[in-house]
Amino acid sequence: MSSSVRKTFISKLSAQSRCPVCGGERSGLAERSFEGAGAVMTVATYDCEAIFGADAAHIINLQPCASGSALAAKLMTIEVHGGMPKEGTQ
Ligand SMILES: [Zn+2]
Repeated sequence: MSSSVRKTFISKLSAQSRCPVCGGERSGLAERSFEGAGAVMTVATYDCEAIFGADAAHIINLQPCASGSALAAKLMTIEVHGGMPKEGTQ
């Protein structure tokens, strides 16, 4: 794979100053080498604990954003209530 494509994956991830799932603030962006894999990956960490990495071939999710589960729980709660939850029920 050409180095320009590698740069595209890394610059795409580097441009994500907020979590692409929940919009949480980014807490770190660093290059990390993984033992055995022999590869250097650009790793972005977010306040919501989501971690994404970019290497030569793709962008991968190293740790999922927890907000998806929180949102799913909230949506199920709203559904059971038959609409928006009432004041003080959250
Ligand atoms: Zn998130």
